[in-house]
Amino acid sequence: MLSSFHRDTWAEIDLDAIFYNVQSMKQLLDDDVEIIAVVKANAYGHGDVQVARTALEAGATRVAVAFLDEALSLRKKGIDVPILVLGAVRPEDVVLASKENITLTVFQTEWLEKAIQYGPLPRPVALHLKLDTGMGRLGVKEEEEVKRIVELIEENDDFFLEGVYTHFATADELNTTYFEFQYETFLQMLEWLPKRPPIVHCGNSATALRFRDKVFNAIRLGIAMYGLSPSLEMKPLLPYPLKEAFSLHSRLVHVKQLKAGEKVSYGATYTAEKDEWIGTVPIGYADGWLRKLQNFCVLVNGTRVPIVGRICMDQFMIRLPEPLPVGTKVTLIGEQQGEKISIDEVATYLNTINYEIPCTISYRVPRIFLKNKSIIEVRNALL
Ligand SMILES: *Cc1c(COP(=O)(O)O)cnc(C)c1O
Repeated sequence: MLSSFHRDTWAEIDLDAIFYNVQSMKQLLDDDVEIIAVVKANAYGHGDVQVARTALEAGATRVAVAFLDEALSLRKKGIDVPILVLGAVRPEDVVLASKENITLTVFQTEWLEKAIQYGPLPRPVALHLKLDTGMGRLGVKEEEEVKRIVELIEENDDFFLEGVYTHFATADELNTTYFEFQYETFLQMLEWLPKRPPIVHCGNSATALRFRDKVFNAIRLGIAMYGLSPSLEMKPLLPYPLKEAFSLHSRLVHVKQLKAGEKVSYGATYTAEKDEWIGTVPIGYADGWLRKLQNFCVLVNGTRVPIVGRICMDQFMIRLPEPLPVGTKVTLIGEQQGEKISIDEVATYLNTINYEIPCTISYRVPRIFLKNKSIIEVRNALL
């Protein structure tokens, strides 16, 4: 199975960690709360269908994505539970959504009026109404518009209102003032509906982890399913330990000695101070191992070694403590012999959030899926 890629760089996706993270959330929540597994952006870079299947096995009952193409792709790969598209879908694409039984978000009257024109549809499309309670992104804000949308849906056989939801801007922050403002706003806006649709949801990972009495009857579980904390400040508040599912590895492809004064990589920015052993690692910024990671470190034989010189498109160099054989494993994210480089550490070095790190590791890096510690699938997006 490993022969389905021909490159000494890969990401490992620990599906047992995903299973555990979803199951732990399931145990935390009341029995009547559904888990919607958020698998947009190829499951935050982890692998959409593999994560979706695992989450469903662990107790999730629905999945959500950002775009229609992501939903269609999951349908094609055999995911047969309800799939909610969180983002905007073109009005003309309601026909496709109807054929594939994809749930859409309604967030504006004009969108619905246009979408209605494409009826009659092969089958009624389930809609979730998005309310903007203070995120300022997608969603309806005014009572009149909410009522108009509900009316239009009721008058039309091509659509039905299955859900209503909102999204919090600050659920991961210690200060809860704005969260509470949004929550109260949501409660008031729900009163504008003649009756509540079957599914009401407002919780992302941070909300579900911290305010499980405020999630109504479904949550949208993203980052915590992947074993990552929604923010650094929330880490001490986690109700159960999260297990990181994503790790990134490579192997030395070349090892040589540089003499004192010799240079490494573009711009010749690094100079060997003495005779040094330099190893070449075959992954670069085109794989999402960004140039700003210059001077960061990786793990070799359980110890941290520095990245030296500029990171290239497909390769970078590290300074080794001793001459090591070609083929030696290099861990960029994850554990080696008890030493660990976490996604949070990489994110902190890059001055960004953990969400961005696995998403950025590109399609060019094959994903290996592990279950019960053995490989169950290898996905190489290039072949
Ligand atoms: C991405 C997304 C989520 C998931 O958020 P996490 O913080 O990853 O749990 C939930 N809801 C919406 C609308 C999203 O776009």
